[in-house]
Amino acid sequence: MQVGWNTRIVPFGPDISSAVFALGFANRAAMAFGGVQPGDYRKMLMYNKNRIFAFVNALGDVGTEWAVAAAGAVNWGFPTLADTDIPEILPTGICTYEHVVANVPHDEICQRSVEVRGLKINVTEIDIPCSFGPAFEGERVRGADLYCQMGGGKTQCTELVKKAEMSEIEDAKVELVGKDIGDLKEGDTLALGIYIQIAGREFQDDFEPIMERQIHHLINYIQGVMHIGQRDISWVRVSKAAVDKGFTLKDLGVVLHAKFHQDFQKIVDKVQVTLYTNPEDVDKLTERARAEYKTRDERVDTMTDEDVDTFYSCTLCQSFAPSHVCAVSPERTGLCGAYNWMDCKASFEINPTGPNQPIKKGKVLDEVLGRFEGVDEFLKSASKGAHESYNFYSMVNAPMTTCGCCECIAAMLPTCNGVMTVGRDYSGETPSGMKFTTLAGVMGGGASSPGFVGHSKFNITQKKFIVGDGGLLRMVWMPKILKDEIRDRLNARGEELGVKNFADMIADETVGITEDEIMPWLQEKNHPALSMDSLIG
Ligand code: SF4
Repeated sequence: MQVGWNTRIVPFGPDISSAVFALGFANRAAMAFGGVQPGDYRKMLMYNKNRIFAFVNALGDVGTEWAVAAAGAVNWGFPTLADTDIPEILPTGICTYEHVVANVPHDEICQRSVEVRGLKINVTEIDIPCSFGPAFEGERVRGADLYCQMGGGKTQCTELVKKAEMSEIEDAKVELVGKDIGDLKEGDTLALGIYIQIAGREFQDDFEPIMERQIHHLINYIQGVMHIGQRDISWVRVSKAAVDKGFTLKDLGVVLHAKFHQDFQKIVDKVQVTLYTNPEDVDKLTERARAEYKTRDERVDTMTDEDVDTFYSCTLCQSFAPSHVCAVSPERTGLCGAYNWMDCKASFEINPTGPNQPIKKGKVLDEVLGRFEGVDEFLKSASKGAHESYNFYSMVNAPMTTCGCCECIAAMLPTCNGVMTVGRDYSGETPSGMKFTTLAGVMGGGASSPGFVGHSKFNITQKKFIVGDGGLLRMVWMPKILKDEIRDRLNARGEELGVKNFADMIADETVGITEDEIMPWLQEKNHPALSMDSLIG
């Protein structure tokens, strides 16, 4: 093993004139490894700018000779960072980012140099006590193995990714505010808020939901830890085996930091993770997160499926449901609620070979039910032949496939000539005769089950929601918690369809939990579904 300064540092000389030897060294690299010919200054610059991640740290007074040497280094694409007050050259041009940055404190100069030069950090070892990798992604933590859990309807569990300024966060900082696993006993529950801040020269606000959706599979990579759901309906289950190995909640942050750097090197420069377990802190984060989710959802509010000729696939959930294929259009967001058309588009830009591929709509095979030739072709190949075709706007005829991540599941209620939907956060009985968990178990493994469909909360009030079966006015029952959450949007969409105060016409568990119980109430309210064409044809 080689250690010590001499291994890595080549001193060229004590005078500033020696800096020229360092640049000569870079020239040699370009000529030896890049085939650049002597004198071809343009190619020399391009090679060094793109391949040799050097920078100059000017410590102490910068005189004329130093300034000249730094200007020379800039011609190789190498920026200067100084600890003194010298004139800065900030716009991007010859160097990848800034050319000369002044007044950098010593304790920040390494991090700033890495950042200004555009050097990317790669985390090669993920320092957690459990095994880690895609092999553990589909693993379940069942009752007998469970040590503790967060979310899943028992406590609040929320995830939020936000863009941060470079100076605002510290890379690799993982902070836990509140109790950790060591403070719990077997069978306990805990609230959890996972707040991730990401800074990056190329990072855009549009990338936040994409990074947030990665939390699901990355946490599932940890052996003995299971993650379900997303946004403010997440659920983390930790096994006894993981706790025995020494797993703590901070390990979630260690994993997320490392994998975000590894998998999204192009757009990520710094990642800071804060984990909250005090219920008040989690509630505060949840309130903020819900406002963010709303803003994201509304970005596609004015778009229609007819506006675009390309939809996007999402096959992220195939690790749990191998034949499941989400097709995401402007008017049908992903059924987990975490991905809309814009998010899939941005995800494809970041990772052109990833799970979100463009799908040319092609010929419209059925305008009302929402069937497209291009989507069917894609579906056949992406589901490995398990599905031939499905419809975007129907739950009765060949509905889209559903995976276990869906925010809500809608089901037909034939006696009421309508439909109901139930969200993951309602654990009671429903008029379909099944609770959410039973419904998800029955049709959540990637099947297309006529009469049922998984969908996002936001999708309920999108204009194309089950429009092939009569649309939103078919909705006769939903849990009160969901109805109250989207009440304004239900009423607004109802009014567009000619029905005032539509939310007040939808029954909930306080009215009844069977079709027979809610039917007289619907009749009394003169619910529009009762006078529609028969749902079962
Ligand atoms: Fe993608 Fe659909 Fe899974 Fe959401 S539910 S992550 S849109 S495959």
